[in-house]
Amino acid sequence: MASLTSLNETGKVVLMLPKRRKNMKKLIEKIVTNSGKPHMVGDGFRVFNYIPGAGIPQERISPFLLLDFNPEYDFGPSNHLRGVGVHPHKGFETVTIAYKGSVAHHDSTGSHGIINSGDVQWMTAGDGILHKEYHEEAFSKKGGPFEMVQLWVNLPKKHKSVTPHYQELTAAGMGKIELADGAGEVNVIAGTFNGTAGPAETYSPVNLIDLKLNEGAEINTSISAGHNTALLVVNGSVEVNGEIATEHNFVLFANEGEEINIKANQKSVVLLLSGEPLNEPIVSYGPFVMNTEEEIHQAITDFNMGKFGVLED
Ligand code: MN
Repeated sequence: MASLTSLNETGKVVLMLPKRRKNMKKLIEKIVTNSGKPHMVGDGFRVFNYIPGAGIPQERISPFLLLDFNPEYDFGPSNHLRGVGVHPHKGFETVTIAYKGSVAHHDSTGSHGIINSGDVQWMTAGDGILHKEYHEEAFSKKGGPFEMVQLWVNLPKKHKSVTPHYQELTAAGMGKIELADGAGEVNVIAGTFNGTAGPAETYSPVNLIDLKLNEGAEINTSISAGHNTALLVVNGSVEVNGEIATEHNFVLFANEGEEINIKANQKSVVLLLSGEPLNEPIVSYGPFVMNTEEEIHQAITDFNMGKFGVLED
């Protein structure tokens, strides 16, 4: 590596500043085109796992720990409420994005919510929580298209023991940008997109952006090279910085360059996510994500002692 200072011909010390590559196109590290087989989470979520399952380690995509995608699927009408019964979480946040269908949530803090198309549940498990998540009753009875993403966002070490809480983010409350000429809309869930902020409160810098693009729409944005950045093509087909990403593809950007250009080759829905890496050890055991083995043992003990509260099935 070259020294940052050197003597020029007149003997003066010259400071050699590293070249700042600004406004450079963000490089693409890989495009995941095959995310394997779906698996069931409980009996209500038929998901493909992209993080970490598609070869994207949690450390590489920090602060995101998990991304499960339930592409559109009709479970059919049911009197039984499909979903996942009471289970714990600790040390991170679960974020459920509803594209189609309705999901209900209950947790041991007494929070309860129902999300429909365009809404988001942002649950901070923090110090430990019990919750259950399942198809909302009227939706279950009727059946119909169901399409969801669940994302796990890690908490920085200093916030892992925050009091558990729940943010219900409605479609109407998202940061909104209408694209010119009816080309589509941008819903900012968390962080900012081209200056528009979203409603979610986060514990580290995170951008979570829902892009609804009509055929021919084009958007440009800039995200710091230091952020781990990716996007999921929920529907449709797009060109991302010159490369084609088709339906259900997952694009992982390199940590080089800032500028992102997305063109919709057809009507498309894209989830764009980025976050500042936490650079802290990740030790996980099922629904507990801490920094050390010892903290995991403590989490299991606390859970077994009933410290996560009470929630009926
Ligand atoms: Mn859960």
